[in-house]
Amino acid sequence: MIRVRFAPSPTGHLHIGGARTALFNYLFARHAKGTFILRIEDTDRERSTQEYTDSILKGMEWLGFEWDEGPFHQFERLELYKEHVEKLIKEDKAYRCYCTPEELDAKRKALLAAGKKPKYEGTCRNKDLEPRTSNSEPYCIRFKAPQKGNVVFQDICRGEISVNREELDDMIILRTDGTPTYNFTVVVDDVTMNITHVIRGDDHLNNTPRQIQLYQALEYPIPQFAHLPMILGPDKQKLSKRHGAVSVIEYKSMGFLPEAMLNYLARLGWSHGDQEIFTKKELIEYFDLKVVGKAPSVFDIEKCTWVNSEHLKKLSDKELMKWTKPYLEELGIQIADEAYAAKAIHSERERGKTLKELAQITAFYLKEEVLFDEAAAQKWLNENGKKGLKALQNKLFSLKSWDEKILHDTFDAIMKELGISKMVELAQPCRVALTGTTVSPGIFEVMAILGKERVLKRFEAALKK
Ligand code: GLU
Ligand code: ZN
Repeated sequence: MIRVRFAPSPTGHLHIGGARTALFNYLFARHAKGTFILRIEDTDRERSTQEYTDSILKGMEWLGFEWDEGPFHQFERLELYKEHVEKLIKEDKAYRCYCTPEELDAKRKALLAAGKKPKYEGTCRNKDLEPRTSNSEPYCIRFKAPQKGNVVFQDICRGEISVNREELDDMIILRTDGTPTYNFTVVVDDVTMNITHVIRGDDHLNNTPRQIQLYQALEYPIPQFAHLPMILGPDKQKLSKRHGAVSVIEYKSMGFLPEAMLNYLARLGWSHGDQEIFTKKELIEYFDLKVVGKAPSVFDIEKCTWVNSEHLKKLSDKELMKWTKPYLEELGIQIADEAYAAKAIHSERERGKTLKELAQITAFYLKEEVLFDEAAAQKWLNENGKKGLKALQNKLFSLKSWDEKILHDTFDAIMKELGISKMVELAQPCRVALTGTTVSPGIFEVMAILGKERVLKRFEAALKK
């Protein structure tokens, strides 16, 4: 039975890299009908906050990563870690280290000066292990790392990895203040939660051999590991603000669909032939960790936006309206007439690449008053423009029916009457009067959707300008 976990530290928002790690764990679990666990790694009390925990959960919920167990909090599991530390001490696999920061620092400097790699040299390793109860000298607990041979493991993404044990010094597992360290808690958690596959970013690759030594010392089975490749910006630099929003929840406010986001995140390291657009169901069906290699992937906001627009195209008008509504509300628009709003959104849907953009370009239909782009008004609502509008107003007023064909005929008649040879000369003043700008869907379509009453009202207001 496959069991995987996503284990964020609540020291920041859920960022693109974290979301991709969560996604791969999620897809791997769902594909195999296994279990997906959420664990909050909050032993670092100084940097962990409730605000970040909430924000991470919100990001997970938005993306639709339903977890099956958790969220577990490491901070509530301190007893468990202590028990494991005791066990190691009892078995002579861990020891108390009384070295002071000054002593450690001096040794470090000496090693560096001698051209050697700094590491803990095992000063306290073979001293007596009894606690010095007679005084209150502070100490930490270090793991007594085996020193001969190699740690070897098969990484699903990177193949065989082998590290000489000499590289791995006696790491601290319990700090002087009694809190356990990351490499220790992660092992205790992964074994007690029966994790079968550890899937995480390759920034943790250096930790894995140390963790394997701990599994071995605790005599626990070792899970399989998959270290996911880095995500870079298009300039091949580490992903940062310069390349677009880093925190995933910002993509919600930018008007991205969660499913499009899943699609794009999945393609950061994974592929399925040359298919680009996937539903969530397809991602679950096709996902395979073995396809993920070690080459870094590139996060490109333009590609991400394209993927989003492809997903928007697949939505029905009704679904699209449901998704666009919150973005319209942000613009101060409450939808009163759903049928009208649906027509309005339908007429703009080809042009909006994000829900936010779609809301912005649809807003003119739904706002009570037209918001004029001043340059457009200057250019087109001049004397000539107004003359055309006035003539249109009179003819439109007396129209008995209202559709694109009749509106087109009316335009033709006015152009003849006023001797206007170019359609733009009538259409642009009309467009500015109705939408406030010079770009919109076809003028007859816009007028047909707005309806007679709104059109005449907006003409009235424009003529007053
Ligand atoms: N808490 C670690 C992090 O946020 C992840 C640890 C792991 O997946 O093993 O980077
Ligand atoms: Zn020491």
